[in-house]
Amino acid sequence: MILEEFQELGLSERTLEALAAKGFETPSPIQRLAIPVMLENRNDIIAQAQTGTGKTAAFGLPIVERLVPEKKSVQALILTPTRELAIQVNDEIQSFRKNDLRVTPIYGGAAMNEQLRRLKSGVDIVVGTPGRILDHLRRETLSLARLKWIVLDEADEMLDMGFIDDVDEILSHAPDERRIFLFSATMPDRISGLAKKYMRDVEVLRVETKQVTTDLTDQIYFEVRESDKFDALTRIVDVENDFYGIIFCRTKVAVDQLVNNLLERGYAAEGLHGDVSQAQREKILRKFKKRQSTILVATDVAARGIDVTNLTHVINYSLPQDPESYVHRIGRTGRAGREGTAITFISPAENRQFLFMQRRVKADIRKETLPTGHDIVEMKKLKIKSELAEIVEEESYAHYDGIARELLAELDPEVALAALMRLAFKNELDESSYPEIRRIDVDRRGTARLFIGLGKADGYRPKMIVELLSRECGIPQQKIDDVKCLEDFSFATIPFRDAEAAMKKLNSLRELANDDRPLVKLAKESEKKSDRNPNGVSDRGRNFRPGQGSVSASDRAGRRGGGRQRTAPKRDYKRRER
Ligand code: ADP
Ligand code: MG
Repeated sequence: MILEEFQELGLSERTLEALAAKGFETPSPIQRLAIPVMLENRNDIIAQAQTGTGKTAAFGLPIVERLVPEKKSVQALILTPTRELAIQVNDEIQSFRKNDLRVTPIYGGAAMNEQLRRLKSGVDIVVGTPGRILDHLRRETLSLARLKWIVLDEADEMLDMGFIDDVDEILSHAPDERRIFLFSATMPDRISGLAKKYMRDVEVLRVETKQVTTDLTDQIYFEVRESDKFDALTRIVDVENDFYGIIFCRTKVAVDQLVNNLLERGYAAEGLHGDVSQAQREKILRKFKKRQSTILVATDVAARGIDVTNLTHVINYSLPQDPESYVHRIGRTGRAGREGTAITFISPAENRQFLFMQRRVKADIRKETLPTGHDIVEMKKLKIKSELAEIVEEESYAHYDGIARELLAELDPEVALAALMRLAFKNELDESSYPEIRRIDVDRRGTARLFIGLGKADGYRPKMIVELLSRECGIPQQKIDDVKCLEDFSFATIPFRDAEAAMKKLNSLRELANDDRPLVKLAKESEKKSDRNPNGVSDRGRNFRPGQGSVSASDRAGRRGGGRQRTAPKRDYKRRER
């Protein structure tokens, strides 16, 4: 018996046959946990497992198993945050029991008539978005009087999208004996509030995140300056044979800007964010699923519920808000037994947050270096050769016979071919058109830069600042770096974990203070970054390991000037993203 493990969970022969037809073999961890409990007619359930771990089947299978179809009144209601999810969940549930069960999706934006017709003809399970479900309840075109099960699917998103009041009202239409199943990828605190309010005898089922940051996803990161992220991205896309991925940005503006930049450089990219209309969104997703576009740039919210498998890459162009979102984002690759790569770009400013996130996610995220111009050119040459071979094989060059003969009559074959390539590929195969992306080595311990209100005018020299910090704050001298004394104030870099205590201590030293402003505080962002403030303080201690040597601010500015021209929108992007 191949589906033995599903059978052991208590599913019947009929359901097992449907699963076999779908190609399922073994239950996922959340399915193992949830199915037996749900089949017993007792508790309400809160279930948490990462995106892509089969939560739909976890609640869908037991419902389908227990339900006795009447094709009359609705027995199960599944609420989803978006219409796409409603459609997906509807299809998945239908596939578990094809012949005698009536399932229908009900969501906003679709024609009311068809929904009314179906509801009237009698359905067993409704899968819908809260707003439209409420519409029908208020019009009394939908009755929940005989409802047995309510599922709140993707409950975290439902909360985020402000559906709480709708859910409240929907529940008031259901009988008291209903059971509530809440499924979610993350468990923000607000969910327990929801549970307390509506649920009884709650059993909490949880699949630990660690287990599900799937081994199939190769996780790597690149340290790259904010201003170099775009070049880094295009390099990754260029060296991949068949890049098919989602790139995550934090804001709508960042999404639009990145899409524009990509289009400008000839990449087939599309963007999704909250301002994209539903119709447009569906169009974009259809294109993406058919691989007519292979780069989807999205905000976290807009990417929710996108069920696209086989992604080769998920790229965190900027870090997600929290570790849960990271897991959520990368859960989109490495699904269904296929390998995927999750890439995270980390700018110096994101380093601390990244360290925190990495600890929380307990993932092994490997540091890598970006492909060089040489790598890219080699890759492009390979691609050209294989595409050429294909054209030759298919003999699809008929129109060019004539001109080929003319050219060869005049030119040496090698010259003709090389010139033609120059025409077709411009500078693409020239390594020097890929400027060096400056390497940065962020101090792994994490540091803080202090502004200290004592300067040369007060008789201070760098050595004295070091002595002050080590004497008063107990920071070992070798951990104090990059001290700079100006006329009225100084800067010093110290380990991040010592910063708070050091500031407290120095600010309490009355004999040093000359007025009531704090003597020491964290340096402003602009005081840390020498490449944005060429006359300011060197960032050597921050970004380069001592002893490794560093590049001065003017050097860097020079090199950048020699590189590729930056276009206006790009600069704009940088400004806006900060
Ligand atoms: P979630 O709601 O947790 O994000 P889904 O329910 O959308 O995940 O499932 C993701 C994909 O995995 C779907 O295509 C689903 O058909 C498939 N899937 C679910 N359970 C199994 C299983 N036990 N074996 C194989 N594929 C599964
Ligand atoms: Mg789901």
